[in-house]
Parts: sequence; C-alpha cells; structure tokens
Amino acid sequence: MPSPFEYAPAPESRSIVDIKPSYGLFIGGAFVDGRGKSFKTINPATEEVLAEVAEADEVDVDAAVKAARRAYDKVWSRMPGRERAKYLYRIARIIQERGRELAVLESIDNGKPIKESRDVDVPTVAAHFFYYAGWADKLEYAGRGPNPRPLGVAGQVIPWNFPLLMLAWKIAPALACGNTVVLKPAETTPLTALLFAGICQQADLPPGVVNIVTGAGGTGQALVGHPGIDKVAFTGSTEVGKAIARTVAGTDKKVTLELGGKAANIVFDDAPLDQAVEGIVTGIFFNQGHVCCAGSRLLVQESIAEELLGKLKRRMSTLRVGDPLDKNTDIGAINSAEQLARIRELSDIGEAEGAGRWSPECEVPQHGFWFPPTLFTGVSQAHRIAREEIFGPVLSVLTFRTPSEAVEKANNTPYGLSAGVWTEKGSRILKVASELRAGVVWANTFNKFDPTSPFGGYQESGYGREGGRHGLEAYLK
Ligand code: NAD
Repeated sequence: MPSPFEYAPAPESRSIVDIKPSYGLFIGGAFVDGRGKSFKTINPATEEVLAEVAEADEVDVDAAVKAARRAYDKVWSRMPGRERAKYLYRIARIIQERGRELAVLESIDNGKPIKESRDVDVPTVAAHFFYYAGWADKLEYAGRGPNPRPLGVAGQVIPWNFPLLMLAWKIAPALACGNTVVLKPAETTPLTALLFAGICQQADLPPGVVNIVTGAGGTGQALVGHPGIDKVAFTGSTEVGKAIARTVAGTDKKVTLELGGKAANIVFDDAPLDQAVEGIVTGIFFNQGHVCCAGSRLLVQESIAEELLGKLKRRMSTLRVGDPLDKNTDIGAINSAEQLARIRELSDIGEAEGAGRWSPECEVPQHGFWFPPTLFTGVSQAHRIAREEIFGPVLSVLTFRTPSEAVEKANNTPYGLSAGVWTEKGSRILKVASELRAGVVWANTFNKFDPTSPFGGYQESGYGREGGRHGLEAYLK
C-alpha cells in the first residue's frame, strides 16, 4: 500500500567535499605520483567517475614500506606513549571536526546512506582513535607484561564496505602501540583513506608513520608479501584471507585475518516481536547488507514464524531505497557492478533451488547499482543462500522448534563471526550464547559496535581480535 505521506527529497549537499581529478600515493608524509598505471573510482549510485587514482606497484610499495621503517626506527617507536597519544587525540578531534566532509565523501564513493556514514561510521571512527589514544601511555596494563614492545611495520589491507571504519580499526591500535603502517584501501573506495592522509598532515603526524598505497589485489599482494613488514592485518574475503595465510606461512610475520560471515539471528517465541523486527532489519539491511557480521540467516521459532514474517514484510515495505546522500534513504547503492552481479547470481540460485523469493515493490534509480531488500522463505540448510555469504540485502529465513535445534542450525556453518538471540528470558540468552560458535553474540539487539569491545571470528571467519584491550595484542610483542 502506498504511504499516505511521501517524503520530500532531503539531499545532503556535496559542496563540502573537494574531490580532486587525480590522486597519488601517500608516502613519507607527502603525496607522490605512482610510477605506473592508475584506475578510476566511481560513484556507485550514479556511475559517475569521481577521480583517477594511482595504482601502486611493487616499487611504490617498497618505497612506502621503507618510509614506514625509517619513521619506526627514528621516531615513532622511540616516542613516549603519552606523546603518541597526543597525535591520536589530535587525529580523533580533526575527524570529528571534519565529520560531515568525511561522511559525504564516504557516501559518494561507497554508496552507503548518509545517515549511516554520518551517524554510525564517522562517529565510531573518531571513537576508535579516542579509545586507542587512551591506551598509548598505559600499555603496561594491556596484559602483555611490564614493558610491551611494538612489532615494527604493519601492512594493512582493508575492504570497501566500511572504508574509513576499517582504516580506524587498523591504524588506531597500531599507532597507539608504537608501530608504523602501510595501508591499502579497497580499489572501489580509496577516497576517504586519501582524505585521512590529509588529516595526518593536518595533525602534523611525523612523516612515514602512516602511508597509504592505493591499488587492487596486486598492490595488496605486494604489500603482504614484502619482506620488510612485521605484521599483516587483513579484512576481506575468506578466499583472499586464505591466500594471504599461505603467503606469510613460514615467515615470522604476525597475522590477523577478519574474514566473511553467515550469521544466524535467532528469534524465540517469547521475543518482543516488533523489537525483533527492527533488529532483523538492522541486521541484514544496514549498509545494504555489505556487512561481514550481517544477520543473513534468520532462524525463527516455528510457532511465531507466520506472525513475524507478516510484520517483517510490512516493515520492509517502508524501507526507502535510493540516493545515498538523501537523509531519508535507508538502503543506498550496491558498491560495484561485480558485487551486484554476485548478489543477483546467488539470489537466482536461491529461487532455482526452490526457496520463495519476496521483495517489496520498490523503484530504483536508472543509473547505478541497486538491489531491493529481499527475503527468501522455505530455505533449507542445504541451499546455497543459507550457506554462502551473499554480502547484500538478502535475508534467508529458516525455522526451528526447540532451542537445541536453533543452536545446531546456527552453528551449521563454516563461518563463526557473529550471531543474535531474541528472547525475553535472560537465562536462555546466556545458555544459547554460550553454545553459539561465534565471536560476537548480540542479545535483543544487532550490529552494535563499540571500540572497547573486541570483534573477530572463529573458523573461516578468521583469527585475531580488533577492538578493546584484545585489539592491542595484535600489535605488541
Ligand atoms: P576482498 O578479499 O576481495 O578484498 C579485500 C581487500 O583485499 C581489498 O583491498 C583488495 O584489493 C585486497 N586484495 C584482493 N586480493 C588480494 C591478494 N591476493 N592479496 C592481498 N590483498 C588482496 O574482499 P571484498 O570483496 O573487498 O570485501 C568483502 C569481504 O570482506 C566479505 O567476505 C566480508 O565478509 C569481508 N569483511 C570482513 C570483515 C570482518 O571484520 N570480518 C569486515 C568487512 C568485510
């Protein structure tokens, strides 16, 4: 049913961002030309070319690693923690001051709704820098002995779904512990990392402490395979994570891998259903479902399945898909043509395997990459849409009868990153949470992030933790 109240367009102005026609690499505190090729980054909501970005080759990566090593040996590893903290606080404050600029640029380059980049990503990014700034002079209390030492130079590779947030998760703890970094953003979303490079300059961060090399998989390979780095931190797909694990095997590089997921969001019959519906929607449609810990498998107790699905469909019908810069948009653009093709392919397979597909009526813009919020019912555990990560706004619904069946189905996955439990009973929350093999279990909520709380997975979701005190371990000897 069409809404009696139509929303007027409420676009955020993009005049606050200044996108240059081309960008070089950020090495040794300055922007330098790459030696060779470049690539285009586009706005996935319009397919407009935003900028031409340098593609770092092995020689460029080598220059960045050497700059990081010099900064590590001469400045950063020798600087007292309280001095490093000042830089991190300064960066955090500049992020807050330039928050609108960062949010608009993130939405333009990534396709995510401005209300998410503005209200979730950027504030959490600043919070991460504030949090780890607080640790920089207290590392002897991190649980790593009386005088924990940094590792050296960290090579960090991040994905496109939370470009700035993943950067913060990587850079803030590394710097707090006294390491220097070379970070490679994803090829479809390099712009906020390059803006962050400018923030490092603005904060007078010593040259070489942070280096940003742009490029695709080849650049990432050159970085993780470089003999001059001491630590690899990777967030991305399980497939690439496995390749990286093979590359560094036999070296003494320390590694953390944050990989994919296929989280179960379990709703018991005593759950507050309206609240659960909001949590299901946040769980799978937040950030177009491009979330490693997305609640992409809804496990609902059979006795309430019909009622819950009725409510969920009504709620999904109110989701607004469209212009990421519109403040009323709930679901923005899919990040790339490749990702859209993958979501379409897996959804078609779901239908072909016999699951029931449903989406609310929704008009999407003519240009750009779009996919409507989608629900599959009648899904069995053997279906590919119940097993593989779709990384899009697609929810697979399965049912269960008893708590033990719910746990068994939830754990029936090669992943183990996150899970959700919805029930009124505290004792059931504790029991089920302790039986779920997932790094994070949310109870009566979903997709909540806090810099003080560790995040990471089991099995094919990777190893190591980011965030909280645990996040320091990855960057200390
Ligand atoms: P991806 O693995 O294709 O790419 C991630 C990054 O790795 C990119 O910067 C890419 O250029 C680089 N890369 C590609 N090949 C490489 C290679 N051989 N060596 C080194 N680097 C290489 O993943 P994606 O499509 O960008 O991101 C989606 C995936 O990331 C999903 O599977 C998602 O679950 C996962 N993810 C996990 C977390 C987490 O914290 N666990 C967070 C966000 C995303």
